Parts: sequence; structure tokens; C-alpha cells
Amino acid sequence: MTFTLPELPYAPNALEPHLSANTFSFHYNKHHQAYVTNLNNLVKDTPLASASLEDVIKESAKDQSKAGIFNNAAQVWNHTFYWNSMKPNGGGLPSGELAKKIDKDFGSFDAFKEAFKQAGVTQFGSGWAWLVLEGDTLKVTKTPNADLPMVHGQKALLTCDVWEHAYYLDYQNRRPDYVATFLDKLVNWDFAAKNL
Ligand code: MN
Repeated sequence: MTFTLPELPYAPNALEPHLSANTFSFHYNKHHQAYVTNLNNLVKDTPLASASLEDVIKESAKDQSKAGIFNNAAQVWNHTFYWNSMKPNGGGLPSGELAKKIDKDFGSFDAFKEAFKQAGVTQFGSGWAWLVLEGDTLKVTKTPNADLPMVHGQKALLTCDVWEHAYYLDYQNRRPDYVATFLDKLVNWDFAAKNL
């Protein structure tokens, strides 16, 4: 067993009523665990079995024959990053240097929020919305499926999972409501500031 499912940073019911314990029982215990299990099976007895998760992602991203490894490794990383992008009693406003930089690079906090919502809502099919640092500039991006900023020369600060499995039990088809709730009630600005 090389890669393991990291512990959740809070109890599985801690984000209720915005994300239910039922969602966590599927999303964390089934989906995230499955990516870990698949990754371990795919790298078993290969040199990647002893590499760090980040190195597995970067190496497999360069080699189309390793797409299965990339997808599972990146999804392991993305989900861990997503759990940490939220916290109980989250939302509110960023502070300090991050707040200043959001104002500078987006024009205002509201403009950032609008851009992030748009990214989450307009990602066609499965994927992720991100706040990233590219060079010295904050940007909002979206990626399909397992794709992630580290293979595009960007540093991730925050992410929102917009795969249907992230919200369908609680929001059904209302992805815009889920992304808005993520920003208003769940987002962990301390985590984003730490990543800056
Ligand atoms: Mn997910």
C-alpha cells in the first residue's frame, strides 16, 4: 500500500447543512478512496510506486500511455486539496495580503466571486474551478476531469469540485447554488492564504 486516503480535516457532518454527511460518505469514502485504490493498483511494482504523489502526477502527465495513472493520482491530490479548501463556518472575506491581491488582480472581491462562479458553472461536464497563482498574478481557471494547475505551471490556492458526485445528492442539478454556497458558506480563506 503506497498511497493512502488522507484524514478529513473535519468530521463528515461538519459542513451540514451545506454539504451532507451522506455526500461525504460517498464522495470521501467511495470516490476519493477509489482513486487511491486504483492508483495503488496501477503503480504496483513500477518505479512510480515509491515516488511522491506530486511526482507521479507530473511524470504521468507527460506520457499519454500513463493517462490512467495521471487521472487517478490527480484525483487523489484534487480531492485532498478540495477538502482543505472548505471548513465549518467558512465563507466570508479573505484578509491581509490575499485580500489586497484579489482586489488588485480582479478589481474587487465581488469580481473575483463572479469569475469563480462562472468558472464552476460553465465547466462543461466534470471538472474543477480554481483560484491559482500564475507568475505573480491571481487567476480563476477551470479544468476538465482530473486536470489540475500544477501541470500548467500554476500554483493552486483553492478549488471547488464541480463533478456531479460533489453536489448531486444535496443540490441535484443546481450547480450554480452549490458553487454559490461554496463561496458564501464553506470556502476556507485561511487555507488559500497559506498557499499564497
Ligand atoms: Mn469529487
